[in-house]
Amino acid sequence: MLKPQVNELQKLAKDKHNENKKYFDKLKKKAPKNLDYVMQDLHEAEFKKTNCLECANCCKTTGPLFTTADIERISKHFKQKPQQFIAQYLRIDEENDYVLQSVPCTFLEADNKCFIYDVRPKACREFPHTDRKKFQQIANLTLKNIEICPAAYNIVEEMKKRISL
Ligand code: SF4
Ligand code: SF4
Repeated sequence: MLKPQVNELQKLAKDKHNENKKYFDKLKKKAPKNLDYVMQDLHEAEFKKTNCLECANCCKTTGPLFTTADIERISKHFKQKPQQFIAQYLRIDEENDYVLQSVPCTFLEADNKCFIYDVRPKACREFPHTDRKKFQQIANLTLKNIEICPAAYNIVEEMKKRISL
């Protein structure tokens, strides 16, 4: 399947929203036993043909949340105290999580590389979470992520073909 262009992705995802929501509602009620296996497979196949450096839409449009372990690791990398790092880059959001003060992410470089790639937050490493175990539990998050991530969009489209409910 061709990857949707980022500029048309929001509209495509919105057009599919009701269909996807119904599908995920059914998935939550009767997730197939091999779901983890299928998702792993779909995720690997899609990311084999995805070059995130040509996209970086996740880094441009949403930021990750930063866990305590993320903050400790990244501040150490910058030879800063965690509190200094927090004051310089983070704020607390309405769900009480540490998030970036602004997007696009401060650490995104002009060539779409991540300035802190080796120590980046766990949420960045795992995005768009399409290989997560018990995928049915993150249906609502995925509905949002397919508006941002062309790979996640394709994975969900393939998933609907592979697992008919
Ligand atoms: S994870 Fe998705 S949104 Fe982020 S750079 Fe890769 S394809 Fe783009
Ligand atoms: S920390 Fe790196 S991977 Fe994470 S959003 Fe920022 S630029 Fe992207």
